[in-house]
Parts: sequence; structure tokens; C-alpha cells
Amino acid sequence: MRPIRPGDRGPAVAEIRAVLTGLDLLPAAPGDEFDSATERAVRAFQQSRGLSADGRVGAETWRALDAARWRLGARTLYHAVPEPLTGEDVRSLQERLLEMGYDTGRADAIYGVRTSRAVAQFQREVGLKPDGSCGPYTMGALRRLGRKVVGGRPQWLRESDAIRQSGPTLVGRTVVIDPGHGGVDPGVVVPDGDLRWTEADLVHDLASRLEGRLAAAGVRVQLTRGPASRSCLPDTDRAELANSLGADVFISLHADGHPNPAADGVATYHYGTDNGVTSATGERLAGLVQREIVARTGLRDCRTHAKTWDLLRLTRMPAVRVEVGYLTSPQDRSRLVDPRFRDRLVEAIVAAVQRMFFPVERDVPTGSIDVSELRAVVAAGAVRR
Ligand SMILES: [Zn+2]
Repeated sequence: MRPIRPGDRGPAVAEIRAVLTGLDLLPAAPGDEFDSATERAVRAFQQSRGLSADGRVGAETWRALDAARWRLGARTLYHAVPEPLTGEDVRSLQERLLEMGYDTGRADAIYGVRTSRAVAQFQREVGLKPDGSCGPYTMGALRRLGRKVVGGRPQWLRESDAIRQSGPTLVGRTVVIDPGHGGVDPGVVVPDGDLRWTEADLVHDLASRLEGRLAAAGVRVQLTRGPASRSCLPDTDRAELANSLGADVFISLHADGHPNPAADGVATYHYGTDNGVTSATGERLAGLVQREIVARTGLRDCRTHAKTWDLLRLTRMPAVRVEVGYLTSPQDRSRLVDPRFRDRLVEAIVAAVQRMFFPVERDVPTGSIDVSELRAVVAAGAVRR
């Protein structure tokens, strides 16, 4: 096909002009001439699509213009195999979902499996049948939420609301503590003479200490496993358990391991994607846990990181996974095997959970909460009531 170029006229040019007008690249005006304004608009369009900006409409630019015609809502979108649907409507949908915090990957205008999954997740959260296709009902829900939801999935807005409305007290909260691994899966194992240190045992000990401290502060605590559970629960089941209990906070405890014994330090993970999409409350909890631990234990600060792990993605409350140091680091290990050090770790996490429920403007400096006083506060509160 010979490219359509400046100076041409006819129905094809009229169609090109109509599409460019629809994209706000060309002022609306009748005509079927490829004039200089049309040429500029074609170049701008080509630039925006990463095509070579020659100002002519060859096969490639024609296909891009054709895809650009589709306005979101004009047709039902679904994951077609093997030839996926493409178009400007798909790009708009992806941008909308990304803005709301769903992980569609890059907004590439292709309705692939990742986009379909993001749509299904959105549908589930607004109470529609999660079939992953975008028809009139899903469009309606997107439009209704459209202006209201910016910078957060509906679920995350609910998270923040629930935290804000519940006040600063820990009494009556539900915290699910998840000691990692267990059963047939010991996690990181480090031999030490006749003994061996396992991550599963260590984090279970931490979890029960944490359970004790939180329970003393009036928190309802549930562990995802016992000390010697026979089978190892997959992360999806652990998340499901926390959801079914209506937990306010979810804390997964792990210890790290690395072939290089010089690797050491603590790191905390929350839900988030490469696109900078993040669970705001999860990120806040991760920051508090990380800072309190670093301030109270002196472990090396390996910072907080966003991950899309099932455990963080499927939980419907602020959720974090803490790697409380490296069992494979002689320095971290010598501290982790000391029960007094583990108590300091636990105090740091309790302080972070407490700060999670302070309104941001009433937050206190890191390291300043004396968790031993929490029980006294609870007792005083109980008397006053
Ligand atoms: Zn682990």
C-alpha cells in the first residue's frame, strides 16, 4: 500500500482526520485534504506511539490510527487468544486501573493475561463476577469509582478508613502473626556443632513472644501455625486465614539466609509493583516496623521494599513480611539466638503496631514508646470505662 501523504485527498484522508480530531490532535473541521495541519497532527501521533515521525500514513501508522479509534466503553474488552485485542480503549483501561493501584503491567494497549487478571481483581473487589472481561457493568463500576479513587485501590481506601476510624487503642484489634515456613519446610538451616538453627523454629519463638506482648496490650492474636505443625501451609492459605479472621494487621516473620556470611541486616516488605503502585497502609506499617527494629536493635538497615508476593497481594489488611536478620551471618545469628535480643525485636514490632493506630499527626518519635507501659495503659483504660 502506498503511504497516504501530504497533498492527498479523499475518503481515507477524511477518516484519518476524524481519528486525529477524536484524539484532540487536530481541530474539528470538515474536509478531506491532507493539509499541513493534518501532517503536523500525524507527526505528533506517530511520536506519541513511538513510530517514525515521517508525517505519512503507511501501513504501520494506519494500524495504530485504527486502534486509536476505540474509545473506552464502545466495545466489550476481553482476553482474546491467540490474537489479543489492542486499541486506545485498552490503553485507557490500563491507565485507569494502574492509577487505582491494579497491576496491569505497562499500559501497552494490548489486552493480555495480566490486564485480564487486573480487571478480575477489580471486579472481585467491587462485587462483580470476576470474569476478567470489561463489559457494560464493569465499565459502569469504573465510571462510578472513576473520579473518587485516585492513588489507591478501593480495598486500600477501605484499609486506611478502617485504621483511621478505629482510634489509637490496641484493645480489641486482631493481629495475625505468621511464623514463616514450618512442617516439612525448616526455611534457612545453619548447623552449629551438634545443634542446628532453623528459621522455622526461630520465627515461631519470635511469634509466640510477640503474641504474648500483644495479648497483654489487649490485642486478639492468632498465629498461622503451631510450633511443630506437620504440613507447611502455602502463603495463599496464610493470607486467606488472615482475611477470614478479619485481621487489622498481618505480620509475617522470617529470617534470611545467604551463601555469603557477610550478608546481614533487617528488611521489611509490603505490597507494591514496579510501577510505583503501593498499598499505602502496608508501606506505612513496613516503614514503622523497619525503623523501630533498626533503632532498638542496631541491626543493619536493609530498608523496606515493595513486592507482589501472594502473601502481601492477597491479604486485605496492612500486611508486611519482616526478615529479622540473616541466620547465615555469624554476627546476626549470635544476636538472634539470644532470647533478650529477641525480646527487643518483639518490642520494636509492638511499638510499630501501636504507632500504626496513632493518627499520623499524633505519631511519636521512633524508639520512644515504652511497650512495657502498654499493659498499664490498658488496665487504666479498663478502669475508666
Ligand atoms: Zn523465610
